[in-house]
Amino acid sequence: MKRILVTGGAGFIGSHLCERLLNEGNEVICLDNYFTGSKKNIVHLLDHPYFEMVRSDVTMPFYAEVDEIYNLACPASPIHYQYNPIKTIKTSVMGAINVLGLAKRVKAKILQASTSEVYGDPQIHPQPEEYWGHVNPIGPRSCYDEGKRCAETLFMDYHNQNKVRIKIVRIFNTYGPRMHPHDGRVVSNFIVQALNNEPITIYGNGSQTRSFQYVDDLVEGFIRMMGTDDTVIGPINIGNPVEFTILQLAEMIINMTGSSSPLINMPLPKDDPIQRRPVIDKASAILGGWKPQVQLEEGLSKTIEYFRSVKE
Ligand code: NAD
Ligand code: UDP
Repeated sequence: MKRILVTGGAGFIGSHLCERLLNEGNEVICLDNYFTGSKKNIVHLLDHPYFEMVRSDVTMPFYAEVDEIYNLACPASPIHYQYNPIKTIKTSVMGAINVLGLAKRVKAKILQASTSEVYGDPQIHPQPEEYWGHVNPIGPRSCYDEGKRCAETLFMDYHNQNKVRIKIVRIFNTYGPRMHPHDGRVVSNFIVQALNNEPITIYGNGSQTRSFQYVDDLVEGFIRMMGTDDTVIGPINIGNPVEFTILQLAEMIINMTGSSSPLINMPLPKDDPIQRRPVIDKASAILGGWKPQVQLEEGLSKTIEYFRSVKE
C-alpha cells in the first residue's frame, strides 16, 4: 500500500483521481482549500478508512510522509483563475515550491498537472511536446499560463539540481461528472444552458477548436505516468486528439439533450486560443499504448446524466 498526497483532490479531476487511487488499495491524503473544489465531490470517500482530508492551501508548506504526490491544486477555468490572478500565480509557483520541497525531503515521486495552456494560442498545429508555445506574458490568461510554465521550470530544476523524481503531464481540455456547473467552461456551460433551455453562448463565431478528453482517460494516463521508471519525466501530452469546433460541440449537446435552446453569439474573450489538439504519440509509446477510450458522444452522455442528477 502506498501513501499518496493529492493536492486539489476535492476538485473535478482530483476527486476522480482520489477515488481511483483508493480503489487500487492505496492510502490517500487529499489537500484542498475548497476554492473551486467542494466537499460534495469527495463526500462519498470521507468514510473510507484510508482516505484523509486536509483543509489547507498549497501556498503554505505541508508536511507528511508520502510515497507519491499528484499536484493538481490550481483553479482551472478562466473565470476562476482570473478572479484573483495574483493568488492564481502564487498557487502555481509557491505551490510547486512547497510540494517539490516536500518531495525532496521525503523522497517521494511527484507528478505535476500541467496544461495545454503552456502552448498558449499555438502557431503549430497539432501541438507536440517539443513546441515552446506562443504565450502572452501580460494578458488575462497569463496568471494561469505563465504560472503553469514556471511550475514546469521549477519541476525540471528540482529534478536537475536535487534529483527529485518528477513527472510532468500536459492536460488538454478534460470534462466529465463533477465539473463545477458555474465555472464557465464550455462543456459545463453548454450542458447547463441546454438542460435549462437557455441560449447557448457561442463566443466568437464558434469556429475555434478544442479536443475534449473524458476524465477517466486522463486518470488512466496519470496512473500510468506515475508508474513509469524514474528516467521518464515528460512533459507528455495527455488528451484526446479528436478535434471539434465549438459550434459542433453546441450542436451535439443540443441534439443529445433534446433542448430547444437557441444559439447566441458573444464576444470572443481576449487571447482565446483559436485551435488546440494534442499530439499523443509520446504518451502512447511511453505509457504502454495508452490512448483515449471514451469518445465525445459517450462521455457527453455520462456528463449530461450527471448534470441532470444534480439539477433535480
Ligand atoms: P478544479 O478547479 O475542479 O480543481 C482544482 C482544485 O484545486 C479545487 O479543488 C480547488 O479548490 C483546489 N485549489 C485551488 N487553489 C488551491 C490552493 N491554493 N491550495 C489548495 N487547493 C487549491 O479544476 P480541475 O479541472 O479539476 O483541474 C485540476 C488540475 O488540472 C489543475 O491544476 C488544472 O490546472 C489542471 N488542468 C485541468 C484541465 C481541464 O480541462 N480540466 C486542463 C489542463 C490542466
Ligand atoms: N466558450 C464558448 N462559450 C462558453 C464557454 C466557452 O464559446 O460559454 C469557448 C471559449 O471561448 C473557448 C472554448 O469554448 O474558445 C473553450 O473554453 P473553456 O473555457 O472551456 O476552455 P479553454 O479556453 O481554457 O480551453
